[in-house]
Amino acid sequence: MKKILLGLMMFITILAMAGCKENEPDPDPDPDPDPDPVVIDFSEVYPNSGTYYQLFVRSFADSDGDGVGDFNGITEKLDYLNDLGINAIWLMPIHPSPTYHGYDVTDYYGVNSDYGTMADFENLLNEADAIGIDIIIDLVINHTSNQHPWFQGWLNGDTEYAGYYRKITTGDSRLDNNGAWGQNIWHSMSGGYYCGYFGSGMPDLNWSNPVVQTEMVNIAKYWIEKGVDGFRLDAALHLEGVNEVKPPTIPIDSTLLQLELFQYQIETEYPNIYIIGEIYDAFSVSSLFYQSMDSALNFEIGGEIIHALNAGFSTDYVSKIIRYNEIIDSYDNSGMDAPFLKNHDQDRMASILNGDTNKLKLAAEMLLTLPGNPFIYYGEELGMFGIKSYGPYWDETRRLPLPFGDEFTTSWFPDEFNTNLENISEQMTNPNSLYNTYKSILTLRNNSNALKYGDIFNYEDGDNVLLGYYRVFNYDADNQEIVLVLHNVSNGVYQLYFSDEEVLYYSDGIANFDGSIGPKSTLILRISNEMIGNFYGE
Ligand code: CA
Repeated sequence: MKKILLGLMMFITILAMAGCKENEPDPDPDPDPDPDPVVIDFSEVYPNSGTYYQLFVRSFADSDGDGVGDFNGITEKLDYLNDLGINAIWLMPIHPSPTYHGYDVTDYYGVNSDYGTMADFENLLNEADAIGIDIIIDLVINHTSNQHPWFQGWLNGDTEYAGYYRKITTGDSRLDNNGAWGQNIWHSMSGGYYCGYFGSGMPDLNWSNPVVQTEMVNIAKYWIEKGVDGFRLDAALHLEGVNEVKPPTIPIDSTLLQLELFQYQIETEYPNIYIIGEIYDAFSVSSLFYQSMDSALNFEIGGEIIHALNAGFSTDYVSKIIRYNEIIDSYDNSGMDAPFLKNHDQDRMASILNGDTNKLKLAAEMLLTLPGNPFIYYGEELGMFGIKSYGPYWDETRRLPLPFGDEFTTSWFPDEFNTNLENISEQMTNPNSLYNTYKSILTLRNNSNALKYGDIFNYEDGDNVLLGYYRVFNYDADNQEIVLVLHNVSNGVYQLYFSDEEVLYYSDGIANFDGSIGPKSTLILRISNEMIGNFYGE
């Protein structure tokens, strides 16, 4: 927080200084006008900052021809992710599990044999580390599989596991709350009911029992020692029973406290571990968790982007983005926003936007110019289609095989959604592909400290058909990088009036920029302090 506030104060100070600088002689000319520049590796200053790629192992890349994605497949395709401009990977659950998705773990210390061996996983960690790609893993802390030895032991009265799970007895008001709602959560067992918020196969752990906390901390440290760079905490909102009754009446304070203790025990020993939580709720709720973790996935931004693209304007997109970051900065823990378009629990962007490539490209440009750590769900860089509930299936069709177009393409599930989609090999060679938009904007972001780490300020006319914001990175009091990002979400063409700028990016290619910004396009300019506010008008 301090860093960002300081940046804002310096920014304002420099603006004030800029006005009077011209008329005043320099009283002390610099005796050494060309000192050797101090090269700072800002990736070490911001160790967990970057663009993350959410990867479903089963669907990503198959190395051994059995049709199922695996660790060695990811290792083989690290170059693909590196070329795209990805800085870190979030692996969806890698632990042994009876289900295809893995969100019901039976052994937190093992790896899913479908995906390979522990040696394969360690090799992936080493190879990714060698090219500077971090790996965080899903840690399913809210619940286990009902086949986990803890749950089986608890059911059987094994005293070692007493208190590991949550149980109520007949007559508890939670059971009957809102009828079916309570009965979907509480599942019959001998002598009462156990909590399974996500179904009877996924019993909720009892986080009020400190032993559960200790188990999870030990598990996290085990994976850190192997080289994992952080954790995405699944269903972190629900640890202490939030939303078990409707309307929610249980305060989330105890959950926040549990997560704060979890973070404290890990980050005191391993300060650079990245902890990001799934708080599947409005930002007003998820933002509370910045006191307990480094990031909380932002479930609002994707919807805001879709709304602006479909409406052709927005009255509050930029101001909302700025507000998100102000709130995050108000927590004193160097929190980073975690924007994303859609994830594995949601319909894919291409399905929502009817395959409109221009909208999909602009969505990518909007996402990847935002502050914080943007998350890309695998396949979004191709415009993959996928919606819920296809025939007898539920979420499988939102998690389909990534079409590499080579022998690594997985085949564990038939894909009838993307038969006409250009695969990766084709999109890489097509300069107008969505893939190449992702790559271009990521290349720009990776070469811009302003876009990677900078603060965000509203452009003077920041919400309209042109959504505009400055990204500003302060090196010191005299040096800063400023970029102006302008998204035209409308179908109109807008003439812009400015000079002495450097065009860093235009959707149709810098060579095609003629001073006006076309429909569903993004323009990014590098500018100087003196130019702020001088763009619009004639
Ligand atoms: Ca395989």
